[in-house]
Amino acid sequence: AEEEGFDAEEVDGELAAAGAGPLPVLAVVGRPNVGKSTLVNRILGRREAVVEDRPGVTRDRVSYEAEWAGRRFKVVDTGGWEQDVLGIDASVAAQAEFAISTADAVVFVVDAVVGPTDTDTAVVRLLRKSGKPVVLCANKVDGPSTEADATYLWSLGLGEPHPVSALHGRGTGDMLDAVLEALPDAPPETFAAVTGGPRRIALIGRPNVGKSSLLNKVAGEERVVVNEEAGTTRDPVDELIQLGDRIWKFVDTAGIRRRVHLQEGADYYASLRTAAALEKAEAAVVLIDVTEPISVQDTRIISMAVDAGRALVIAYNKWDTLDEERRFYLEREIERDLVQVQWAPRVNVSARTGRHMEKLVPALETALAGWESRVPTGKLNAFLGELVASHPHPIRGGKQPRILFGTQAGTRPPRFVLFASGFLEAGYRRFVERRLREEFGFAGTPIQVSVRVRE
Ligand code: GDP
Ligand code: GDP
Repeated sequence: AEEEGFDAEEVDGELAAAGAGPLPVLAVVGRPNVGKSTLVNRILGRREAVVEDRPGVTRDRVSYEAEWAGRRFKVVDTGGWEQDVLGIDASVAAQAEFAISTADAVVFVVDAVVGPTDTDTAVVRLLRKSGKPVVLCANKVDGPSTEADATYLWSLGLGEPHPVSALHGRGTGDMLDAVLEALPDAPPETFAAVTGGPRRIALIGRPNVGKSSLLNKVAGEERVVVNEEAGTTRDPVDELIQLGDRIWKFVDTAGIRRRVHLQEGADYYASLRTAAALEKAEAAVVLIDVTEPISVQDTRIISMAVDAGRALVIAYNKWDTLDEERRFYLEREIERDLVQVQWAPRVNVSARTGRHMEKLVPALETALAGWESRVPTGKLNAFLGELVASHPHPIRGGKQPRILFGTQAGTRPPRFVLFASGFLEAGYRRFVERRLREEFGFAGTPIQVSVRVRE
């Protein structure tokens, strides 16, 4: 097709080279100062040609494309997350949660010279529960004299510690071989890809926002489906509920119905449950309690849903309690804290009175439609051509990077690959993403934009 001088065959070739499908994701987690960033740089070998920018709700995160022994994968650097806001333990836990919910394998970095700390063992518990493959990196083993330090890390129960010096490169090759063994060839097809059967919804939110009340309300007023659909497997913790003319599966409801109170680490378990529910779901309904200010915990749960790549609906619950004053502040909190997910359909509900329950289904349908939508390559490139002409990238160092062409590499959620003649600044990438949304919609779905720089 004649698209702004793009040659269809060339696009196909580039796409094949880029690997049109998603790459397996490796997350690097560990305490501050154990050497995560050093290790990530070592893995990339300074080949930082590709930078992916996925704005989260509360932070930006960057993933890089890496290659080892001919296999390509993405490395996510979790260093420096929110340490100021959350404190060290919480930020390390957030990394682990992220790894659990979105990575295909994890490199857990421990400072072998310092040995395992309490924070390390807390993360180990999370990682082991998750069942995700973990490669244990015993870092800062710079020479034979510190080799013995690595063996102490067997005590973590994560299998063989790989002695590594991220700084000098010692041992990193052997560790990367172990990483390749741990990584799937391609990310496992999510449940979402196994189509047919009811749509799967995760009802999530921090404790006491009204999850159990909402579930009871929707299940109570509508018919609860007891019969199994032919060909669908039903997990006892999932609930089939008919809403409108469709049957929906609310996944992982056991933790919602039965309130488990754990004295210690209750937050950890709540997060794990959220991650597990997201893993099984196609769409998330995140409940926010309007009686309280929007909290870091709320935005983190939304981030988890966005990072997991799920369709998203935000339900503001307990609307029956709202007075004028609280409503005023709520709208300001939403503008301030949730501006990055303003694409998510919003419903103002009351699980107590049943207010606006009927709006839940249309919101979910909108979000799922956006999640599955596809922009034809021709249309996308016509749009990109105009965009580049009207809003060129700023000139940097005498050069002007240009988007050459793009394609939608996948759906659920929509994923785009842009090919560019040079490095695109984060601000420009965000601008492109914003314009993509303005042009094509994508209500209720995160979108992922990655950039490949052609050498
Ligand atoms: P992060 O906070 O986990 O990302 O840690 P950094 O990568 O920033 O490293 C923290 C410090 O440890 C830096 O001063 C690094 O130079 C140092 N470091 C990282 N890896 C090694 C290593 O293998 N050996 C030694 N001796 N120092 C290291
Ligand atoms: P969960 O921990 O998220 O499952 O929350 P629950 O469903 O147990 O609800 C926590 C508390 O909020 C209970 O006391 C509910 O009665 C109350 N609640 C839930 N939804 C509403 C609502 O829409 N309006 C009001 N006023 N209270 C609600």
